[in-house]
Amino acid sequence: MPAADVRAPLRASVPDTRAPYDVERVRREFPLLALSPDGRPLVYLDSAATSQKPAAVIAATADFYARSNANIHRGVYRLSEAATALYEGARAKVARFLNAPGPGDIVFTRGTTESINLVAQSYLRPRLAAGDEILVTAMEHHSNIVPWQLVAAERGAVLRVAPVSDRGELDVAALEGLLSDRTRIVALAQISNALGTVNPVGDVVRAAHHRGIPVLVDGAQAAPHLAADIQSLGCDFFACSGHKLFGPTGIGVLYGRAELLDGMAPWQGGGDMIAAVSFERSTWAAVPAKFEAGTPNIAGAVGLGAAVDFLSALDHEAVRGYEAALLRYATERIAAVPDVRLVGTAPEKASIVSFVMDGVHPHDIATILDADNICIRAGHHCAQPLMARLGVAATARASFALYSTRAEVDALAAGLERVRQVMAR
Ligand code: PMP
Repeated sequence: MPAADVRAPLRASVPDTRAPYDVERVRREFPLLALSPDGRPLVYLDSAATSQKPAAVIAATADFYARSNANIHRGVYRLSEAATALYEGARAKVARFLNAPGPGDIVFTRGTTESINLVAQSYLRPRLAAGDEILVTAMEHHSNIVPWQLVAAERGAVLRVAPVSDRGELDVAALEGLLSDRTRIVALAQISNALGTVNPVGDVVRAAHHRGIPVLVDGAQAAPHLAADIQSLGCDFFACSGHKLFGPTGIGVLYGRAELLDGMAPWQGGGDMIAAVSFERSTWAAVPAKFEAGTPNIAGAVGLGAAVDFLSALDHEAVRGYEAALLRYATERIAAVPDVRLVGTAPEKASIVSFVMDGVHPHDIATILDADNICIRAGHHCAQPLMARLGVAATARASFALYSTRAEVDALAAGLERVRQVMAR
């Protein structure tokens, strides 16, 4: 049997970090962005829902199945050892990328949703008594609301909600005022998926820690914008999804502070999470295996590792500068379309423009734009309480990534003009 090649060559190149940020060069790494259905370019402006994948990620995933596929951890043959090395190597890459203290603090999950459910069930549930409080914000994704509601309902605990302003800015003073002796966890997004608001998570962590309260950061939207730095945030838990981070679907990350993960009971039972099993009693493997029951998404982890390699090779300052300038441009162009109103105008924002158009349902906007190959999202963005707070049923949302361009923003602005004309007929 041939030894598995753990150094599978990536068929794609990575950008040169010394050159100025060259978006066209970055775009060439993303095969899907070159599609032109019906002979017209595809304008993909839904990266907050899921990002496109660089060739390096697609190649790493395919190469894994073609050359390294075996189940991990328990195999004594070389192919299995090679697959294990790739999987654990991906964990180390993710830990470095997110600046976690070490790979042992990184649990692979299916995604942000599963990571938050893990914390709700395994950390919070046994620590929650009737009358205890869970503090979230009014701009959370349903994934950072419902898992807490499930345990709160069971235990008679209460969900408290920190308010946001009309502009979609978190009221940090009000949040701090809601911290109490009964608060058992604070859970908030670093970046809102519906509005793009960037929250001052570090301030929230300091205020909560001052009272001994742990903080979970939903980093689903922050990680792709290279804004995640677990050690500088100082948070206790951090969740993100591979598919928003230029990696595959079905793989995600939970970081947990080592003492907390150590003290938590397993989340699911099965193979690979045990030390020993008998019918009388079973004992658990050490973290992170304790939280990874069953065969994990090995190829997904390998693909995520490749995504992290791709991102790590970029000049992060240059990417952030490029994205900030693109957001400013997009904000101006979209706001200038007659009858359009922006929803979410907080001073600190990232890569998302949400808007409504007088007299046109957001779904109609998105459907009409689709005829021009322009992909945007319309709806409540899994943030119904936020929509209710802002007095809208839904918004249209354009979201950008490090491969988005001004030309795509121009196409969107022109498309919105056409929406007005079509709807005025
Ligand atoms: N939180 C935020 C802020 C998100 O944007 C999303 C995805 N839209 C999630 C949580 C859930 O992520 P996933 O569906 O990948 O589990």
